[in-house]
Amino acid sequence: KVRVRYAPSPTGFLHIGNARTAMFNYLFAKHYQGDFVLRIEDTDIERNVDGGEQSQLEYLSWLGIEPDESAQKPGDCGPYRQMERLDIYKRIVDEMLEKGLAYKCFCTPEELAEVKEAQEAAGLAPMYNRHCANLSNEEIAAKEAAGLPYVIRVKVPEGKTYTFDDMIRGTISFESKDIGDWVIVKSNGIPTYNFAVVIDDHMMNISHVFRGEEHISNTPKQLMIYDMLGWEAPTFAHMTLIVNENHKKLSKRDHSIMQYISQYKENGYLPEAMFNFMALLGWSPEGEEEIFSKEQLIEMFDEHRLSKSPSVFDVEKLKWVNATYIRNMSLDDFHAHALPYYSDAIHSNVNLKEVSRVIQPRVNTFGEIKEAVDFIDELPEYNCELYIHKKMKTTPEIALKALELTLPVMDTIEDWNNEEEIHTKLLGIAKAQEMKNGQILWPIRTALSGKAFTPGGAIELSYLLGKEESIRRVKIGIE
Ligand code: GLU
Repeated sequence: KVRVRYAPSPTGFLHIGNARTAMFNYLFAKHYQGDFVLRIEDTDIERNVDGGEQSQLEYLSWLGIEPDESAQKPGDCGPYRQMERLDIYKRIVDEMLEKGLAYKCFCTPEELAEVKEAQEAAGLAPMYNRHCANLSNEEIAAKEAAGLPYVIRVKVPEGKTYTFDDMIRGTISFESKDIGDWVIVKSNGIPTYNFAVVIDDHMMNISHVFRGEEHISNTPKQLMIYDMLGWEAPTFAHMTLIVNENHKKLSKRDHSIMQYISQYKENGYLPEAMFNFMALLGWSPEGEEEIFSKEQLIEMFDEHRLSKSPSVFDVEKLKWVNATYIRNMSLDDFHAHALPYYSDAIHSNVNLKEVSRVIQPRVNTFGEIKEAVDFIDELPEYNCELYIHKKMKTTPEIALKALELTLPVMDTIEDWNNEEEIHTKLLGIAKAQEMKNGQILWPIRTALSGKAFTPGGAIELSYLLGKEESIRRVKIGIE
């Protein structure tokens, strides 16, 4: 049975890179009717943050990813937090010590640094010199009795080649001679990532591992443990990096892209759109279509189509995907989503449902609502250059004329709730004066909003603002 896991360290918010890792594991598992396990890798106790686990779960769930097994929803392979599995690791470490597959190392950091320095000076790659591999049982007992701290190292076998068939990258091999005896248990008694991950993946019956490419160099160490313990390793797939538009690796300080899922939620992106967009980061289906529901993506997912080159995080494309989801919502649904964004953006007495109708075709995210509607409460200050629009052939002079013509016409509109009537009357001015429609409508729109970009045209804005307010603003325009 296909079983995958997403194994975050609870060191912070859900990052887009990790979210994508979780997503591909999830898509793969669900495509094959398998299980998606969430394991918390919390052995780096200094780096854990309060609420880190909770926030991982919360944002995965926001994206629509619910684990089949987790600390919150245990199956048969628990516990699901590494710090609750220490006795499991200890049992295996003791076995390895007994069989001579691992040994205690009492070397101090100073001693290790000295060895490293000497090796570097001799032009050698630094590697532990196995000083403690040959301690006698008596020596070990004496050091332990003296309370000296120690780590446990694995005794790397000689002359071995570790090979795996990566689902994305093909065959990859490493030689054991290039790997020094590495630490499997730290001096605080807690196992290292490369060791614990093997025990857990084995005991949790994980069949496939999708993870970031930074783990390729860890894989031979993990294969070594599988080999020593006589276990079968899962199939690995190392995904390529997510890069920014300049094809640079994302760094924590790169502000060209919001890097945490929480930020997308706060900025009014739809989780379905995020899921859709992120599934296409490093994977693509056949054909040109790019809008897919979660169910469609699960159905279509094909691990052979995972990309071998870095995936560019294209912010404009994400906006487009999100906008597409917004356009496809029913007005009621859009309105329900938009309401919270109105509460701190609109205080005047306008029909919010009508605001929704006007802006739904025009905003890319709910986060854009505030700026799109702020003119409703208050006409911003603007200067007459705003009336210049080459394509509409308007100048401040033409605009003045247009607004002076508009004022009396607006006054004659009786049913302001009838957008048709507003439309006919306002366009009537252009006709009567043999002016272009734009030469009337652009100035009105500008006078009503005080902005170069508005979420609707002159007719819609008039309608939204109401008769009295529209006339007041046209008068301000004339002044
Ligand atoms: N805790 C590891 C990480 O967050 C998991 C790596 C793995 O998937 O093996 O990078």
